[in-house]
Amino acid sequence: MTDLTSLTIAEAREGLASKSFTAAELTDAHLAAIEAARVLNAYVLETPDRAREMARAADAKIAKGEGGPLAGIPLGIKDLFATRDIRTTACSKILGNFIPPYESTVTSQLWRDGAVLLGKLNNDEFAMGSSNETSCFGPVTNPWRREGSNTTLVPGGSSGGSASAVAALLCMGATATDTGGSIRQPAAFTATVGIKPTYGRCSRWGIVAFASSLDQAGPIARTTRDAAILMRSMAGHDPKDTTSVDIAVPDYEAAIGKSVKGMKIGIPKEYRLDGMPAEIEKLWSEGAQWLKAAGAELVEVSLPHTKYALPAYYIVAPAEASSNLARYDGVRYGLREPAKNIIEMYEDTRADGFGDEVRRRVLIGTYVLSAGYYDAYYLRAQKVRTLIKKDFEDCFAKGVNAILTPATPSAAFGIGEKGGADPVEMYLNDIFTVTVNMAGLPGIAVPAGKDTQGLPLGLQLIGRPFDEETLFSLGEVIERAAGRFTAPRWW
Ligand code: GLN
Repeated sequence: MTDLTSLTIAEAREGLASKSFTAAELTDAHLAAIEAARVLNAYVLETPDRAREMARAADAKIAKGEGGPLAGIPLGIKDLFATRDIRTTACSKILGNFIPPYESTVTSQLWRDGAVLLGKLNNDEFAMGSSNETSCFGPVTNPWRREGSNTTLVPGGSSGGSASAVAALLCMGATATDTGGSIRQPAAFTATVGIKPTYGRCSRWGIVAFASSLDQAGPIARTTRDAAILMRSMAGHDPKDTTSVDIAVPDYEAAIGKSVKGMKIGIPKEYRLDGMPAEIEKLWSEGAQWLKAAGAELVEVSLPHTKYALPAYYIVAPAEASSNLARYDGVRYGLREPAKNIIEMYEDTRADGFGDEVRRRVLIGTYVLSAGYYDAYYLRAQKVRTLIKKDFEDCFAKGVNAILTPATPSAAFGIGEKGGADPVEMYLNDIFTVTVNMAGLPGIAVPAGKDTQGLPLGLQLIGRPFDEETLFSLGEVIERAAGRFTAPRWW
């Protein structure tokens, strides 16, 4: 029997249906893999008892012919999703040992469909970061290494645990969230597939909030088909999230393999940056040629406000974060520092509970929202956001079906290599991804090639609102042309 952990979700689904193996065996194989890979620090909590119990329940349902679409599929869950009776920390000291008495909508839909919880995955503290180095549980290691080197590389962030675990075969798929790139950038750094759905497609209820108008949940998986399978269970209207949209969830998997003939693919000239590495440029034109060979038409498009997206994001996101994070005051849950009076208790708890990057965001956010600066910063950033959204609308109005861009400006970098002296160096990682959050659009990152050092690189496709299906169809064309990439196992 092949190693069960190397199967795709689609293959495992078949194997379970044909009784080639049981859900219990599939789960045990993953639990053993997790145990052997603790050096990666992808999981912050392993839940083997819960996993075995859920796998047994899945086997019983499969035997009765009642298995759901994800029956027996073992998944990892980003520690930003509240899981009932299971510690949820957002990888922040301030949440301490918080054990939610409720389950996030997205994860409850995964369990409804029969999936198995293997454990909680590491992420940047409150999902703020691009390298998974800000977690209170320490950094995550990327299973990929430069050829001939054993330098430890970051998996990207903030969903670094999700990407690393999927790439290292420590789960068949994972949940992730994306506020400015946190699904797509780590997917690109680990040769996995990550999709940020349209804002409103997946419920945010029960997900620790970072920047509510930008946050969106989505899957990270090893293939576009697997991502489509997971998306179908994760998406859907939820009355508990007022920004969740009531549109029927399509069968995303049906989009895999669908012809892309005649589709118009926009190539935005503003994404061709000065000093862009030649290998990113090459990957981008190769991807465009693959889509053309599949019958799509390439058109140059313009998104003139692109250069303002990153600065505007770093006003809007911290502003919302400073407001969302006001609730961590030591009163209701998580950490509480003893102090003489309540003001000191708030101050000491927050000073001790938040890490440096989170503190920086709270300070920036409070500043841009304060009287006297609100109009100059926050209001202006909101106006820029509207212009960014309009750029995309104009492009789609001209008949463009999707836009092709690089996913990241570079491949994975070393732990401690970026952002030490200047945080902006780290922020620049999201140059190609934040626009999509600002406009509320869907975006997918698909592995497309390798750099000269043998590290994976990804391409991004940006779609029309609620047209994730087109992204799956186009993404699969790139995936098929580029081939599968498997991280070499060294642990
Ligand atoms: N890297 C970006 C940030 O630090 C995006 C993070 C995310 O998408 N959660 O804000």
